[in-house]
Amino acid sequence: MKRILVTGGAGFVGSHLCERLLNEGNEVICLDNYFTGSKQNIEHLMDHHYFELVRHDITNPFMAEVDEIYNFACPASPVHYQYNPIKTTKTSVMGAINMLGLAKRVKAKILQASTSEVYGDPTVHPQPESYWGNVNPIGTRSCYDEGKRCAETLFMDYHKENKVKIKIIRIFNTYGPRMHPKDGRVVSNFIVQALRGEDITIFGDGTQTRSFQYVDDLVEGTVRMMNTRDSFIGPVNIGNPTEFTMLQLADEIINLTGSKSKITYLPLPDDDPMQRQPDIDLAKKELDGWEPKINLSDGLKSTISYFDTLLSQ
Ligand code: NAD
Ligand code: UDP
Repeated sequence: MKRILVTGGAGFVGSHLCERLLNEGNEVICLDNYFTGSKQNIEHLMDHHYFELVRHDITNPFMAEVDEIYNFACPASPVHYQYNPIKTTKTSVMGAINMLGLAKRVKAKILQASTSEVYGDPTVHPQPESYWGNVNPIGTRSCYDEGKRCAETLFMDYHKENKVKIKIIRIFNTYGPRMHPKDGRVVSNFIVQALRGEDITIFGDGTQTRSFQYVDDLVEGTVRMMNTRDSFIGPVNIGNPTEFTMLQLADEIINLTGSKSKITYLPLPDDDPMQRQPDIDLAKKELDGWEPKINLSDGLKSTISYFDTLLSQ
């Protein structure tokens, strides 16, 4: 049994990760400041013998004897991370310093949830890990993109200077049950709008693309990455390479929900990347043949069913 700290554990991805690690027989400390996460997401784990919940903000130091740290604390939706951009950068940068300091002190292995946003609006397509990205350092998305880039730098330097055992994953757009209904990200927005019969809001002309990964595939890749040999530190892309335009996504969700919602077009936000698709060759090679298993239609069906129940409560 390992003792594992999951920061951001009450959030969308973090709650699935806590569940998975508990099911594997580990002791899990879930740390969260509830900015975008909630106790509801982890309510079903509360009675578990080996589950512990701590209200804490990772911009402040934290001490616990742990074997592994999954650093997932950070708002991920543009609406949420732009709400207080200075705080977002602090969470990524000071949070990384605090968690790396903890890992160094207790000799824990630490995994960073980085993002495809480190590639910005990519000029290389699909994006391999070797691509350095095309990021605006002073735009509305910079607090998140540059914060995550700086966190990667800190991880590499703690590894080089202090021999901390690190792992970096670059997560591409992920969706699934327990996304916040007012999260503002495209999958949750479209599903909630379709279920309520409201207009589906496409930003821009809807030809921009993303590649959507179901949360179970991400959790599988994440846990496999933590368990790779010490010399493999990444960064490694974790995502589903099947790429869709936002118009195709809207059509699929309208079909699956049988909704009568119409499509409406709103202005494209600043610096919104035009295309995004992971190159996952490295993940397949290093993560024991890992690849995404759940296709968009199946993943959307279980996400729609989650939101359907939530909205009827
Ligand atoms: P989320 O907003 O649902 O979860 C983030 C969690 O972190 C929340 O529970 C929030 O309350 C907590 N948190 C935020 N700031 C904190 C702080 N200062 N101290 C303690 N807790 C804090 O988002 P998510 O989609 O679950 O994303 C989780 C992680 O994965 C994030 O680091 C995000 O950058 C990364 N990621 C997610 C995606 C995606 O598509 N979901 C893509 C790329 C990267
Ligand atoms: N988007 C949209 N309608 C919405 C929300 C988002 O068309 O209601 C678009 C957004 O402009 C972007 C894409 O969907 O091009 C993905 O947005 P999301 O916020 O989910 O993720 P990110 O832009 O961070 O990849």
